[in-house]
Parts: sequence; C-alpha cells; structure tokens
Amino acid sequence: MSNIVAIVGRPNVGKSTLYNRLTETRKAIVDDYSGVTRDRHYGVAEWTDKHFTVIDTGGYVAHSDDVFEAAIREQVVIAIEEATVILFMVDVVTGITDLDDDIAKLLRRSQKPVFVVVNKVDNNQRLTDASIFYSLGLGEIYPLSSMSGSGTGELLDEVIKHF
Ligand code: GDP
Ligand code: MG
Repeated sequence: MSNIVAIVGRPNVGKSTLYNRLTETRKAIVDDYSGVTRDRHYGVAEWTDKHFTVIDTGGYVAHSDDVFEAAIREQVVIAIEEATVILFMVDVVTGITDLDDDIAKLLRRSQKPVFVVVNKVDNNQRLTDASIFYSLGLGEIYPLSSMSGSGTGELLDEVIKHF
C-alpha cells in the first residue's frame, strides 16, 4: 500500500459514494481491534495506469453525537499520519459547518497534500455556490458530483501527481 488516498469529512457528505465509484474491488481489510479501525474501509483504485489504495472513513459504527465528532477527528489524525493524499470532502448543499471548520484546522497544520472536494455539485448553480469553500483556507477546491461522476477525473489527474 504505497499510494494511499484517504477520504475524510463529516457524515452524509458523500464519502462512501465517491469511494464506491473509485474502487473496483470492495475488499475490506479485516481488523478486530478498535472501533476506529473497524470504521475504515480499504479498496483498490486505478487512474491512468496508476494504482492506489482508497480509504473510506466513518459510517460503519453507530456513535452518539459526541463520540461521533471525536471519532471523525480521530480519523482525520490517522489520515494525516497514514495517507499520501487526503481528500477532505464537504457538501455544497449544507455549506460550511462547525465540524468542517474543526477538520480544516487540523488539516491546515498537516504536511500532507489536502484536496478540498466539494461534493453534490450536480448543476451550475451549485458550481457557483462551491466557491464559499475557499474560505476553509486549504487552497484549491475540487467541485464534483460523486453521484454522476462529473469532476472526478479532474480531481484524480491532480491527486496522482503526488504519487
Ligand atoms: P458519507 O456518510 O459521507 O459516506 O455519505 P454517503 O456516500 O453515504 O452519501 C450520503 C448521501 O448523499 C446519500 O443519500 C447519497 O446518495 C448522497 N450523495 C452522495 N453523492 C452525491 C452527489 O454527488 N449529489 C447528490 N445530490 N447527492 C449525493
Ligand atoms: Mg459513509
């Protein structure tokens, strides 16, 4: 697992939808340890002959709201240690939440390449709305629709430059 792309972000932004789109095999690496490892799914992906591992985080363990925010932060910390590239997914429909701001703060301190992936950009109005996410202070944004797949190619072209 040399090239690792971790998808982080709060619930319901569309992380698993993108993971499913990117991965050909849905092979989960088995673990029996903590809730955090159980809360991660690993899959294999390929883009223009480059192979990489994609990690989907969250959504596999039920949490109360408090535990759940701590768990999301923990996933971000692990991604910062483990990943080659981090995809920080946000949702153009809900805009920037407090939890998004918290995650952005952690990521701004990391040395890893971070891509702000603005999901659910299904139409042109939402493409305009997506520009609000520049205010997260993480540089370029990558608007896409995980559902239709539009915009994923532009993202992956940039991601694989880090391998
Ligand atoms: P996760 O909790 O971050 O893993 O989010 P999911 O992948 O489970 O998706 C949460 C919800 O957002 C689901 O109802 C998806 O169908 C929906 N969703 C995901 N991607 C898109 C998208 O590009 N456009 C729209 N409109 N909905 C999406
Ligand atoms: Mg999920």
